Amino acid sequence: MSQYVNRAVVLAKRPNGEPQNDDFRIEEQPLSELAEGEILVRTLWLSLDPYMRPRMNDMKSYAAPTPIGGIMTGEVVGVVMESRSANYAVGDRITAYGGWQEYFVKPDDAPMMYKIQETGIPLQAYLGAAGMTGRTAYFGLTEIGKPQQGDTLVVSAASGAVGGIVGQLGKMHGCKVIGIAGGSEKCKFVVEELGFDACVDYKAGNLEKDLQQACPNGIDIYFENVGGDVTRAVATLLNEGSRVPICGYVSNYNDTDLSKVQTPQDILATSPHPPTARFFVQTEWQEQHQQTTQKLAQWIKDGKLVYRESIAEGIEQSIPAFQGMLTGKNFGKQLVLIAAE
Ligand code: NDP
Repeated sequence: MSQYVNRAVVLAKRPNGEPQNDDFRIEEQPLSELAEGEILVRTLWLSLDPYMRPRMNDMKSYAAPTPIGGIMTGEVVGVVMESRSANYAVGDRITAYGGWQEYFVKPDDAPMMYKIQETGIPLQAYLGAAGMTGRTAYFGLTEIGKPQQGDTLVVSAASGAVGGIVGQLGKMHGCKVIGIAGGSEKCKFVVEELGFDACVDYKAGNLEKDLQQACPNGIDIYFENVGGDVTRAVATLLNEGSRVPICGYVSNYNDTDLSKVQTPQDILATSPHPPTARFFVQTEWQEQHQQTTQKLAQWIKDGKLVYRESIAEGIEQSIPAFQGMLTGKNFGKQLVLIAAE
C-alpha cells in the first residue's frame, strides 16, 4: 500500500437540474503500489469546466457519462511523486486527466497526458489560456470561424476561460470583436483588460437592441458558448456567409431534460441567413496539442494574451466552485488549488 492517502470526489447520484451537494461524495481511496511503467502523481491544480455537468447525466454524448460512484472527470496539473517509468522522473510536472482527487496513479502511456515544457508562465495556465480552454478558443476560431480582417466577431461568455481568449485572438486577426457577458463588471473587464471593442451585458434587459447597436454591419462570426436567448438574439443579425463554431451551450447544461432543449443548431436554422455552423470538440486537433500549447504560452509570456482566474482552495471547495461556475459566479477560468508545491 502507498504511504499517501488519497481523497477523491465521486458522483453519488445523478443531479436533477442544478447539482446539489449530496450529488457528490468525498471519499478516501487507497492507492496501490506502482507497477512497472506507472507513475504516482500529486494533484496541484484542478480545472473545473462546464462539460463536466453533461457527463453527470446518463445520456449519449461524445464522451461516456461518469458512472455512479466514479471519480469526477477533470484535467489537472500535477507533480510526479514516484516513478517506475523511464519517461517520467520524480518532480516532473504534467497535465493529465487525473480527476477530482489529490493523488492518482497512471501508466506512462496514458492518453492525453503530457509533460509540461515549462516556459516561466504560471503552472495553472496549462489548464487555461495555454491549456485546454486556450486551445479550444484557438481551434474553434481559426478552423471553423475562419476570421478575416474587418469581420465582426461576437463571442458569448466573453469574460470566461474560452471566450476571453477567442476575443483576443480575433483582435490579432483584425476583427471587430463584440463580447456578451453577464453584468457590468464582467463587461468592463472584457473591454478594458481583454481589449474587445465592446461588450453587451445580456442581463441588462435589452439584449437584442444592445447587440444590434454594437453590430451595425451585422455579424460575420459568432463563437457560441452559451445557447438559448443569447443565440436567439445573435441569429437575427447574422450576415450571409457567416460562420458559427458551436463550442458549447452552458445555459442549458442544468436543464432537467437536455433532449428537449432547443440546441444552437435548431436556433441558428431559423436565422434569415443560416450560417455555416458546426459543433466541435477541441480534441479534433489533438495532433497539434504541443505546438499550439507552446504558441499560446509564448503569447502569454509576451503579454499578448491576458486572462483572469477564479481560484478555490482545497478538494472540498471543488463542489461549490463547480456549482457556481454553472450559474456564472466564476470570473474567468475556474481552478481549484488542491496542493501548493
Ligand atoms: P466559462 O469560464 O466561460 O464559465 C462559464 C460561463 O458561462 C459563466 O461564467 C457564465 O458567464 C456563463 N453562463 C453560465 N450560465 C449562463 C446562462 N444561463 N446564460 C448565459 N451564460 C451563462 O467556461 P468555459 O470558458 O470553460 O466554457 C465556455 C463554453 O465552452 C461552455 O459551453 C463549454 O462547455 C464550452 N467548451 C467546449 C469545449 C469543446 O471542445 N467544444 C472545450 C471547453 C469548453 P456570464 O456570467 O457572462 O453569464
